[in-house]
Amino acid sequence: MLTIGFVNQKGGVGKTTTAVNLAACLAAAGKRTLLVDADPQANASSALAVDRTGITTYQLILNPEDGASAPQKTAVDNLEVIPSSSDLYGAELELVEMDDRQNRIKNALLPLRDKYQFILIDAPPSLGLLTLNVLAACDQVIIPVQAEYYALEGLSMLMQTIDRVKSGGVNPDLDVLGIVMTMFDNRLNIAQQVDANVREYYGDKVFKTQIQRSVRLAEAPSHGKPIILYDFRSMGTRNYISLAEEVIRAAKKASSGSRA
Ligand code: ATP
Ligand code: MG
Repeated sequence: MLTIGFVNQKGGVGKTTTAVNLAACLAAAGKRTLLVDADPQANASSALAVDRTGITTYQLILNPEDGASAPQKTAVDNLEVIPSSSDLYGAELELVEMDDRQNRIKNALLPLRDKYQFILIDAPPSLGLLTLNVLAACDQVIIPVQAEYYALEGLSMLMQTIDRVKSGGVNPDLDVLGIVMTMFDNRLNIAQQVDANVREYYGDKVFKTQIQRSVRLAEAPSHGKPIILYDFRSMGTRNYISLAEEVIRAAKKASSGSRA
């Protein structure tokens, strides 16, 4: 079992699109997968058209012992979801007063670890207590990066945060599974330059698969479907299947202890 957080404090870089579509592709590949929506915007929940009246991530933060009964089925076989709701906005402040405040999501997911092969957690665009909960709960992080000028600056700050989470003892085993380039537009020089820079700096930590910019990927959430159900023949489907293959390989490597 591997828990992967989708983290980048920069907004709109493709965290949710990547979490939702990668989750659907892992599930389609036969992997039992859980997607946890830890963003008050609840974009992942609406992208999969899940019912938000059940147990939400906010309720789990209040009552982590309810974790086992929170997952809901989706239209995709093997894919279940713990939805979010706007009351999660309040959690950022409420968490400050709570016991074991950075481990609330981690504790809620403990009884679910053996039920799934992959647990994916979509984080909000901030480095606050919710994101800290995501970083505490996961084994690995995938960082979606949009190929644009400011991408690298934000990335080094995020890497420092991840290092602090490791060295400060919140999650000593945390690792970066990989950086994925999103909304990639081959025709733009800037996109190619940023891609080259990120690969030069972070080497084989950058997934080979680039997620191309595509209208179909942007449309799919409004139909409540991941791209593989919305348009199986699209480039977006090909891109996310290819990323899922890389993630499955990287996950095998990570769990076989080659990090040691
Ligand atoms: P936030 O930080 O607000 O949570 P995010 O990092 O989760 O944002 P997304 O919501 O995944 O980013 O993407 C931002 C917008 O870009 C959305 O409207 C989404 O549909 C669109 N988008 C994401 N990936 C692509 C793509 N490859 N091609 C075209 N549009 C995309
Ligand atoms: Mg998002």
